[in-house]
Amino acid sequence: MAKSADTKTAGRKPGARATRTAAETEKIRAALAARREELRGEYDQTLSEITELQRDRLTDSAGDDQADTGTKTFEREQEISLANSILERINQVERALERLDEGGYGWCERCGNPIPVERLAAFPSATLCVTCKQLEERR
Ligand SMILES: [Zn+2]
Repeated sequence: MAKSADTKTAGRKPGARATRTAAETEKIRAALAARREELRGEYDQTLSEITELQRDRLTDSAGDDQADTGTKTFEREQEISLANSILERINQVERALERLDEGGYGWCERCGNPIPVERLAAFPSATLCVTCKQLEERR
């Protein structure tokens, strides 16, 4: 019992935000990693659709009339902008993972409370807790 003073020294700076348990941090990390995998899968699929549309355009565009060509170009542009937005979301998740390592992720920017793990899993880029988000939207 002589060395039990150690339990007290884990204290943070006064006024620091509440802390998450290591288990919670791991849960967030796992949720973010799963989301990243999911997004990468979507991204790969979108890329192969773009490649396919491109191949279609090159191979049988000779027989296409103007409208077909227009539709295919439009489809391809849609796919490309989809791919870009997926890439943007992957970046958000990666930034979130970095900030998680630094301890700066998952805290509400308004009230400073921890954002629930479930919310972070669903919205990795969330910077507000549900309560603050609702207050913000009510304005
Ligand atoms: Zn809040």
